[in-house]
Amino acid sequence: MKPIESLDQLQQMCHISALSGHEEDMIVYMKGEMSRYLSNVRVDRLGNVIAVKEGKSSDGPKVMISAHMDEVGFMVRKIEPSGFIRIARVGGVPEKSLPAQRLVLRGSKGDVLGIIGPKSHHLTPPEERYKVVRINDLYVDIGAHSKAEAEEMGIYPGTPVTYHGFFQEMAGGQIAGKALDNRAGCFVLLQVLRLLADKDSSATIYFVASVQEEFSIRGIVPAAFTINPDIAIGLDVAIACDTPDLNALSDVRFGAGPVISHYTFHGRGTLCGLIPNPKLREYMVETAAQLNIPVQRSVFFGGLYETSFLTLVREGIPAVDMALPVRYTHAPIEVGSLPDMEQLIILLTAAIEGVGPELDLSRG
Ligand SMILES: [Zn+2]
Repeated sequence: MKPIESLDQLQQMCHISALSGHEEDMIVYMKGEMSRYLSNVRVDRLGNVIAVKEGKSSDGPKVMISAHMDEVGFMVRKIEPSGFIRIARVGGVPEKSLPAQRLVLRGSKGDVLGIIGPKSHHLTPPEERYKVVRINDLYVDIGAHSKAEAEEMGIYPGTPVTYHGFFQEMAGGQIAGKALDNRAGCFVLLQVLRLLADKDSSATIYFVASVQEEFSIRGIVPAAFTINPDIAIGLDVAIACDTPDLNALSDVRFGAGPVISHYTFHGRGTLCGLIPNPKLREYMVETAAQLNIPVQRSVFFGGLYETSFLTLVREGIPAVDMALPVRYTHAPIEVGSLPDMEQLIILLTAAIEGVGPELDLSRG
């Protein structure tokens, strides 16, 4: 079976609006797609979608592979008397890429198109032209002439807002899409599930599409507590530094294979990160070598993935972060690399299939 048969699912997911804490449309989508291959699919109280594939024996190892399905965006903070909308950030939204963007406001009466108004260029004084406008000074035009008209459209403080859906294949095996972080991860999760669904695996496999990663990074925690896996594999995007503005930071780039993280750390507020279980990390490297798949080793200071908090669940779950390289993270459109995504799917499928009771993750 091919690692990718079609990009339709990714295209569909890049058009779904699922702000952190408002993942309903992605929950329904992932539950539906997982149910095509596995009968045991449930949604936990927080919204995590969990599909289970039983292993050969009931006392075999339990492997959890997860990808978050929420996305960054905004919440309506205030409606001006004039009908213009003020917004607050949900997750790490870059203010510099916001003016003139299209947004989707998920009003109580349906979706409403919004445009983040950039000051008309002709009337922008020279000293303002190269400045980033702060989020609190930005406004969204939804076509309303008054606050009452905006409310009539079903828009209130608290209305969830995301970037407008987009997906397109580019030249050179690249893909451009809204929220590739982490719809690309969800897509990889679905392909791995499809490829493993009919195979005999010694491990029982839990496929988890998680919530609230872009908000608190901890939405996965209750699911992990319930599953109590022996191994956790996190699936997300890694920052490709092959663009002219970042190439001094790391060698993670398009076309050089799946990314295996050695270190993530985020000091501002969360004070967390993941140094993966060394044996689990090297198991991934060795599996890739057997498959002749190149891998990229990543050290990411300044960010983290949801696996970070799994070290605090129960006895501390051995975890590793796997990713595909993506450019322009958290911008309205991100660009990813298809060949690396394909290799990531092949690697994960083989690695999970190969997990048996003999895999030793002890720390000496
Ligand atoms: Zn992510």
